[in-house]
Amino acid sequence: MMRQYQLVERVQRYKPDVNEALLNKAYVYAMQKHGHQKRASGDPYFSHPLEVAAILTDMHLDESTITVALLHDTIEDTSATRAEIDELFGPDIGRLVEGLTKLKKLDLVSTKAAQAENLRKLLLAVSEDVRVLLVKLADRLHNMRTLDHVPVHKRLRVAEETMEIYAPLAGRMGMQDMREELEELAFRYINPEAFHAVTERLADLLERNRGVISEIEEALAKLFEKYKIKATVKSRQKKPWSVFRKMETKALSFEQLSDIFGFRVVVDTVDDCYRALGAIHSTWSMVPGRFKDYISTPKQNDYRSIHTTIVGPSRQRVELQIRTREMNTVAEYGVAAHSLYKDFGSKPNGPGHRISKDTNAYAWLRHTIEALSEGDNPEDFLENTKLELFQDQVFCFTPKGRLIALPRGATPIDFAYAVHTDVGDTCVGAKVNGRIMPLMTELKNGDEVEIIRSKAQVPPAAWESVVVTGKARSAIRRATKNAIRKQYSGLGARILERAFERAGKTYAKDALRPVLHRLARKDVEDVLAAVGRGELSSQDVVHAVFPDYKDERVTQSPKAREEGWFNLRNAAGMLFQIPGRSSRRSRKDKGKDGPAAGENGALPIRGVSGDLPVRFAPEGAVPGDRIVGILQPGSGITIYPIQSPALTAFDDQPERWIDVRWDIDENMKERFPARLSITAINEPGSLASIAQVIATNDANIHTLSMGRTAPDFTEMIFDLEVWDLKHLNRLVSQLKETACVSDVRRVNG
Ligand code: MN
Repeated sequence: MMRQYQLVERVQRYKPDVNEALLNKAYVYAMQKHGHQKRASGDPYFSHPLEVAAILTDMHLDESTITVALLHDTIEDTSATRAEIDELFGPDIGRLVEGLTKLKKLDLVSTKAAQAENLRKLLLAVSEDVRVLLVKLADRLHNMRTLDHVPVHKRLRVAEETMEIYAPLAGRMGMQDMREELEELAFRYINPEAFHAVTERLADLLERNRGVISEIEEALAKLFEKYKIKATVKSRQKKPWSVFRKMETKALSFEQLSDIFGFRVVVDTVDDCYRALGAIHSTWSMVPGRFKDYISTPKQNDYRSIHTTIVGPSRQRVELQIRTREMNTVAEYGVAAHSLYKDFGSKPNGPGHRISKDTNAYAWLRHTIEALSEGDNPEDFLENTKLELFQDQVFCFTPKGRLIALPRGATPIDFAYAVHTDVGDTCVGAKVNGRIMPLMTELKNGDEVEIIRSKAQVPPAAWESVVVTGKARSAIRRATKNAIRKQYSGLGARILERAFERAGKTYAKDALRPVLHRLARKDVEDVLAAVGRGELSSQDVVHAVFPDYKDERVTQSPKAREEGWFNLRNAAGMLFQIPGRSSRRSRKDKGKDGPAAGENGALPIRGVSGDLPVRFAPEGAVPGDRIVGILQPGSGITIYPIQSPALTAFDDQPERWIDVRWDIDENMKERFPARLSITAINEPGSLASIAQVIATNDANIHTLSMGRTAPDFTEMIFDLEVWDLKHLNRLVSQLKETACVSDVRRVNG
């Protein structure tokens, strides 16, 4: 068992200013706490945390991490408490030890759903501090190395968990050595026959090729000497598990596998990497399609190296990896080397040689999760691992750093509902990574999302088709259903009130209850909503309550009903006394100054040449709309609002699209066309009161057409003239508040 001073010395070798007192205290504390506990092997239990600490010193980790390693099983297995550890070692170390204690309780191999959940918990623990994961991996590695002592029935479960979760995690963190050892150990227990068969054949192959290997090694050494490149060449052999997996997934026999042997060339500088590559390629022919430059484009986990495969002296394929010393360290220790020690290897005593501010849990997790999920080479990693569960998920954060896991394709609306239903229901906007973004933005891994809320908000029904989570969808459906039902039943109540009044009867909600069966409705609200929606006529309700009542109203002639629509084109001004400004047409007739929007006048629109006639689409466009011009060969340009569905007709003719924008002068008094569809309760005076609202809002009616859509409703199409979009929106909201109006919609605008 490693002695106290030996441990300190190991750390001192790479970190001379190590806090010795901390390590000594942790060593003694853990040893005392574990006391006479024994491992399954019969060794003192304390040998386990000590070995875990030793593994981490191989990765050159700082004394806090080593301390955590020494203490990692104390809360779970001894009388130690979080409070005691906090007091003795500080709350940072206490927090990490507790994080590891929680992880221990996760049984990662279970049902698929539980696995996803457990992975999420694992990430949450990692989010506290990535050092939790480093200690956890070292802990697992030592447990795997000593798995022989564990009862047989437990071995397989532990090995599977290692293969499916921990080995890929280590790989994803860039810790290739750790990954390979975990895989090899797990393989041995999961499939002993295959493991031994592959291992034997590899050993056999190695034996037979020993000559070739040293031949290549010598050739490479000579080559680098000739080119004056300082390089270390090391041969490496593919590991049993990766050989086996290739045979399985590609259905190849052992003999068919190429590049079982490889060489790693480690040089001093990036420049040397490319010079070495040039020297190699000018001596042996390269295998096409096998060259990869991960130096200019590093992998997601920060792996950098040049890969190439050549046809070697005895015609066999040989894979070469060329990298600098620093890159080699990152490739072996991954996150542990690269991120904890930014200056690793260059300035062992420098200020960078300690846990940097990046250990901030939040920043760490973002990095970690990006590395976990953005696979650049799926074959490398995600295939055949349980972590493929990550593939269809994105991990985002609240501004306070809370992790929110969502399915891929999720929007800020999904995010809001995942945080809380109330947050979703009141969501009106979102900032993604500090910038206001549309609510339909697809979230990416690591995004920080801040939801902007308003108490007045009711989730629009259209959101239902935007969101991807079931929670958001059902909440939106519920909220919009409630809102719509409330609207309709309010409207229905008003329709009934007036219908009863016209019939000379008094309306009372309670009077509906006894006749529910006659109306085939389950409750009073249902009746009101049905009337409001136009599914049930008010006359039917009156008859249900007063069966003897005779409707004396003049009914519409069958012919009129058949025709449905009648036109009041250009007649609105005559039918109604409309106060307010004169129409565009009359202004132009008066020959006032300023550009008129008539057939020959110049529209206040930039982006079109003066010679072409410009006009608006029939549905109109008003300043404030984003607009586009469509060239009509032989007849000028038509202006459409950019959201107009009519534009789809020109999708395949990009040459006809013209960029235009408004060119409005503040002093310009010009009206613009806009079309509204208004659905109103079918009762005397509806049209008059709508016209009144339009007039008092200073808008002109240019054309009006009407038609009946349901017994109690009429749809009216108004072509209006307004000042701008603000003006139009104000008018629309006033119309919506008008008692007889059930719906107002802009047509194609
Ligand atoms: Mn342990």
